[in-house]
Amino acid sequence: MASNNRKLIIKRRQESFIRQGGLCFYCNKPMWEGEVESKTAAMARLGVTRTELKLLMSTAEHLLRKADGGGNCRDNIVAAHAICNHSREERTVEEHKATLWIDPPADEDPRIVEIIDRLKVVKDGSRLHTELMGKFKALRTHQLAEQIGYNLQVTL
Ligand SMILES: [Zn+2]
Repeated sequence: MASNNRKLIIKRRQESFIRQGGLCFYCNKPMWEGEVESKTAAMARLGVTRTELKLLMSTAEHLLRKADGGGNCRDNIVAAHAICNHSREERTVEEHKATLWIDPPADEDPRIVEIIDRLKVVKDGSRLHTELMGKFKALRTHQLAEQIGYNLQVTL
């Protein structure tokens, strides 16, 4: 029973993924469907690290939450990034769309602000630039993951 339910939800997720052209229901950015694309291929396609890829995985999102009686019918399930799905909490779909993580204020983390300031004066393509970009990505990933309670074990 539980296993049939899981299979149905995966089927619904994949149907939604195709219907949405591979884009997240909430933020409209590309997702990774783990059942049909390898991690390596998806990392190259999306230009992200293995850690970031976990956040961009396609998940089944119940528009009317299961807790509020939402079922597994086609009309109630959309595909959304893991990070967009798990950060919804108690919000309605509309509320959540309005509070998305995609453009969080950069000044939230002073370490990020410092890196952005340094990047402005560092030569593009230099070793320092690459280093700073790497650090920036790690911090951003860590920050996004924290918002949805993933424990990434990232050393900063
Ligand atoms: Zn998304």
